[in-house]
Amino acid sequence: LVSREIYAQDTVVQVGNTPVGSEQFAIMAGPCAIESEEQLLETARYVKNAGATVLRGGAFKPRTSPYSFQGLGVEGLKIMSQVGKEVGLDTITELMDVKDLDDVARYISAIQIGARNMQNYTLLKAVGETQKPVLLKRGLSATIEELLLAAEYIVASGNPNVMICERGIRTFETATRNTLDLNAVAFIKERSHLPVIVDPSHGTGVRTLVSPMAKAAVACGADGVIVECHRSPKESVSDAAQALSPQDFHNLMQQLAPFVTAS
Ligand code: PEP
Ligand code: MN
Repeated sequence: LVSREIYAQDTVVQVGNTPVGSEQFAIMAGPCAIESEEQLLETARYVKNAGATVLRGGAFKPRTSPYSFQGLGVEGLKIMSQVGKEVGLDTITELMDVKDLDDVARYISAIQIGARNMQNYTLLKAVGETQKPVLLKRGLSATIEELLLAAEYIVASGNPNVMICERGIRTFETATRNTLDLNAVAFIKERSHLPVIVDPSHGTGVRTLVSPMAKAAVACGADGVIVECHRSPKESVSDAAQALSPQDFHNLMQQLAPFVTAS
């Protein structure tokens, strides 16, 4: 169902007011984790001013260490819902457990399935039984075929509103956090009608590389980017090394402007 042989035209997934997969290059931005209402509000205001239309931020965080901040949970969803309305942004957050699906669906515009859950078939079927937009992130060591089959699970369960996300994979290279596989973007755009979003933040793990890779995402045919930013990157409770400051994000948007259709 996700193949172009079945459906030749590009699918456009409507995330609130943002048409992902259309002529308009989508910009999703926000902190790795929702830390507090004032943190999210401040971040939302500057990403909106710079031109983003979707606010990202995790309330349920898949942390490598069980002792790291795990997210604000449902409280975080409520904060995001409130902030999104106040600032005028659509919202996206990660769902890790089927038990939280109703809350995420109630408060948030789009559901993110994280890299660690790309092959959690119970979760894929559950989001497939809703009509919510889903951003499916590529697993840490998943092949493109496995990624497309994971997307197939969601569509086959009845939800056609799937966006694929290339967020870097594990390779022998250690200079960067992950290896952003832009081959995958061009390949998937050729084989599938689903929109493809690039995550240059997790793809590199390095703040200064986010901007060049976001521009590369435009060049290889991606439909948008999802970028982590923080009002004070040094103080970010998670993924601080890849967080863009407000000024960095503004610069990124200025650099992208010549390459993307204005909203
Ligand atoms: C995130 O978006 O903050 C995240 C945890 O991403 P990934 O699942 O790609 O690691
Ligand atoms: Mn993160």
